[in-house]
Amino acid sequence: RAAVVARGLTKTYGSGDAAVHALRDVSVDIAEARFTAVMGPSGSGKSTLMHVLAGLDTADSGEVTVGPARLTGMKDKELTRLRRDYVGFIFQQFNLVPTLTARENLLLPLQLAGRKADPAWFDVVVDAVGLGHRLSHRPSELSGGQQQRVAVARALVSRPQVIFADEPTGNLDSRTGAEVLGLLRACVDDFGQTIVMVTHDPMSAAHADSVIFLDDGQIVSTMARPTADGVL
Ligand code: ADP
Ligand code: ADP
Repeated sequence: RAAVVARGLTKTYGSGDAAVHALRDVSVDIAEARFTAVMGPSGSGKSTLMHVLAGLDTADSGEVTVGPARLTGMKDKELTRLRRDYVGFIFQQFNLVPTLTARENLLLPLQLAGRKADPAWFDVVVDAVGLGHRLSHRPSELSGGQQQRVAVARALVSRPQVIFADEPTGNLDSRTGAEVLGLLRACVDDFGQTIVMVTHDPMSAAHADSVIFLDDGQIVSTMARPTADGVL
């Protein structure tokens, strides 16, 4: 089963001589309850693809289906609800609310959705990213690495079906990075969540079940790690 399906996505920035074809007829199936990495050179369209799959940006043509919902032609309100209830984001730029503490930032997406955190899972996530002693700090009182850990934890606390992560370990030291990747792995293996992660780092991609390679706005290859049951 596919958690996210894209067909014939194109996206062009600018026009005429200045046109940049960020996506050229991209079709992809993101397997449910699997960890998919997206790799490729800088400028190959990775972020654009992820933003379109996540419903944060729209393609010029093509179709995207996330879980039960066809994004194409969806109203803004429905799109916002889908993002809130079904999807989690981890961005390179952390997007933390500066006036809120780490704890308040972690709980914000759930609060906006009118849901409560599972206290046991909250503790697991906070422990795993090593934020126990920083929960009452505001973002400005945290290092870049700590802010990224808050951003990662925030996406995990609400246990969304699909998590989109753009270089989630880019700002972390290798040990914390490995912990975060282990946590993402656990989300897939223990909770059946679906993860799509953009990364430059082959070591990070090695945690994934499959890797999609983009070049110049096209998927040039996909690679799947064999699983125990031989099915991906
Ligand atoms: P990647 O994530 O692989 O680095 P991007 O998806 O960010 O690639 O970008 C793909 C191409 O689209 C690049 O050539 C980039 O310069 C261009 N691009 C991305 N966003 C914009 C934008 N908002 N306006 C104009 N060009 C853009
Ligand atoms: P709308 O575009 O309808 O105002 P929002 O921008 O509030 O909806 O986005 C809804 C959800 O998507 C929020 O939970 C927000 O965290 C997330 N989101 C949207 N755009 C971005 C972005 N550029 N960076 C990070 N998160 C985003």
